[in-house]
Amino acid sequence: MERFDLAIVGGGPVGLFAAAMAGLHGLGAVIVESLPQLGGQLTALYPEKRIYDVAGFASVTAQDLARALVDQAMHHRPAVRLGVTAAGLAPQADGSYILATSQDEFLVPAVLVTAGLGAFTPRRLPAEGADRFEGRGVYYIPPSLSEFRGKDVLVVGGGDTALDWAWEIAQHARMVHLVHRRREFRAQPGVFERVKGLHNVASHTPCELRAVLGGETPLQAVLAHLEGGADETIAVQAVVSGLGFHAQLGSLKEWGLTFQGAHAIAVDPSSMATNLPGVFAAGDIAAYPGKVKLIATGFGEVGIAMGPIRAHVRPELKGALPHSTNLRAMADRPQV
Ligand SMILES: Cc1cc2nc3c(=O)[nH]c(=O)nc-3n(C[C@H](O)[C@H](O)[C@H](O)COP(=O)(O)OP(=O)(O)OC[C@H]3O[C@@H](n4cnc5c(N)ncnc54)[C@H](O)[C@@H]3O)c2cc1C
Repeated sequence: MERFDLAIVGGGPVGLFAAAMAGLHGLGAVIVESLPQLGGQLTALYPEKRIYDVAGFASVTAQDLARALVDQAMHHRPAVRLGVTAAGLAPQADGSYILATSQDEFLVPAVLVTAGLGAFTPRRLPAEGADRFEGRGVYYIPPSLSEFRGKDVLVVGGGDTALDWAWEIAQHARMVHLVHRRREFRAQPGVFERVKGLHNVASHTPCELRAVLGGETPLQAVLAHLEGGADETIAVQAVVSGLGFHAQLGSLKEWGLTFQGAHAIAVDPSSMATNLPGVFAAGDIAAYPGKVKLIATGFGEVGIAMGPIRAHVRPELKGALPHSTNLRAMADRPQV
């Protein structure tokens, strides 16, 4: 069984910053993330939105911030398990834990839960045949956007996620077909207008993707017009779901953690410790009086948690964390 100093449950912005901090302070970390990509809500829910309240950036898109956080984390070479859900936590006689995931198990003295809203899983496209092409033309998380260059792409959904994807894909694709089952889009003000203003986006409303047919690409996307009229078939090279994600805490609720309400783990804000020794929580999932769910708050919570985590894992290293400016580790580590 693999051993790490720290298991980080959730690869959102807070988990990523925690991986960087752990590395900086000499702890070997593993990040476990249920989605096939890092970034949490930033990449899954609002990649194209601008964030104005993260220190150091007057304005940054969520996905650019996620990229920067991934770069910073990877500089410290944490182990990363993508598409893997943390499932069980079993205390051991020596105070360490076996963290069981959907794939394998790790032995760790400390766990930092940065699970946000819970493990994300995509809402499935309710279209016949869509599952046959998953990953081969039908995507819940698009591959590298440059793969859409010059192609015709169908995006399903009417909220921020779908419109963000439509905007981004339209920067590369020949044509984007945006399909939504209602007449009105549910996005924040101005978002739909921005997408509609693009010359290579066509919206189809109120319409439903009924089936995805075809052997190889192009796929045949069958659209049903919900206010009557015959089905329409459009040839596209890719179908991207913008239906969003379900978030489930799932078996985290069975770890013996004290919850505050249904969705948040109660922590001591002076250490971010939970009621389980060696188990800490930060970011959206951590609750204490006065909690504000912001990225900046989560970063601060990582700063608070890291000293107690280091003291738990390496009791011989007593005292406050040194400033990063005093650490030789960064200078010694080759850039990756
Ligand atoms: C539309 C929108 C706009 C926003 N704008 C702002 C803004 O302008 N400024 C700001 O500060 N905040 C903003 N937020 C809030 C911000 O995104 C969150 O505060 C932040 O993402 C919390 O980060 P996190 O790492 O705690 O959790 P998340 O980003 O939710 O990441 C948690 C990750 O953990 C994974 N996970 C959960 N459980 C498991 C498990 N058991 N096993 C494996 N993986 C698991 C999830 O899949 C997810 O990827 C916005 C949110 C939304 C939805």
